Amino acid sequence: MPYERERDTAIAAVRAASRVCRGVQANLVTAETLEKRDRSPVTVADFASQAVVASVLAGAFPDDTVVGEEQAGELREDDQAAMRAAIVEHVATGLDGEAPAESKVLDLIDRCGLSRAEGDRYWTVDPIDGTKGFLRGGQYAVALALIESGRVVMGVLGCPNLDPGGGMAETGGAGLIMAAALGDGTHLWSMTDDGEGRSIRVSEVRRTEDARFCESVESGHSSHDDAAAVARALGITESSVRMDSQAKYATVARGEAQIYLRLPTRKDYRECIWDHAAGMITVTEAGGRVTDVHGRDLDFNHGRRLEANAGIIATNGPIHDRVVEAVRGVLG
Ligand code: AMP
Ligand code: MG
Repeated sequence: MPYERERDTAIAAVRAASRVCRGVQANLVTAETLEKRDRSPVTVADFASQAVVASVLAGAFPDDTVVGEEQAGELREDDQAAMRAAIVEHVATGLDGEAPAESKVLDLIDRCGLSRAEGDRYWTVDPIDGTKGFLRGGQYAVALALIESGRVVMGVLGCPNLDPGGGMAETGGAGLIMAAALGDGTHLWSMTDDGEGRSIRVSEVRRTEDARFCESVESGHSSHDDAAAVARALGITESSVRMDSQAKYATVARGEAQIYLRLPTRKDYRECIWDHAAGMITVTEAGGRVTDVHGRDLDFNHGRRLEANAGIIATNGPIHDRVVEAVRGVLG
């Protein structure tokens, strides 16, 4: 299998980081009080998750670049000692008790946060994708992908609140891991089981009227009004499934929905590579298609953001061109 060592390492990294996130989410007071008063537990989980992924990757691939969302800059300030200590403690949970020293943890975080997304080969990580979902006790994901020569060649999603057996509601269950490598298809595991995994495929639905679509919970991230107009144009009568994070890609990859729409709310917004690389390959390797709203392939040759693309359309494949056409019709 191509990328076998990369995939196994990435699965181990995502599993360890997911353990950290689950621990923090389980102890959040309530999303509401947290949003209003103190977001620090979320921040702690973001940093710790990124450090855990960076640590596992550094062990296996010391020369590889890792591009991640978070930077340690402010954490290094004198008044952040308590935050630093909490992060180190959570990193220890992720790494089975073996936390690196505080200065090493900060360096691991910056190893990702300060890296440029360029060169023949680099990784990209979103330590907690869907922070809003994380806060709500809903869906979120740890996303890690490998990019070679501007192409996503391997990706792993950890979705701690998706049921490996199926279903889209958040669960207190095991959570799932999904992994895909170029030419090897997409596989799914329960987060607590490291056996063979099972191969998954997208849905075979060919009538857009029978399709189910998913979109962001946040209307600031994807236009709900435009998506509803697209759904009408496609003859879809069922209401959308709203969920945070790249759990949407996982939902299309395993055939529970046929369409994921991410329709721009601002002309100037460019998607971050770590928000899409892993999710995209789980869908394409499961037989689906992913483009931007113009029907263009996602182009990972432009640094930390998808500068040459706008929005996202992911589908099971057979209906893709019709969805792109409907989106074009609505967006004009
Ligand atoms: P989701 O959970 O699918 O709504 O996506 C969460 C991601 O949306 C975050 O990781 C952000 O990077 C990204 N994001 C932030 N602002 C926007 C925006 N205006 N349009 C699209 N995505 C955004
Ligand atoms: Mg994200």
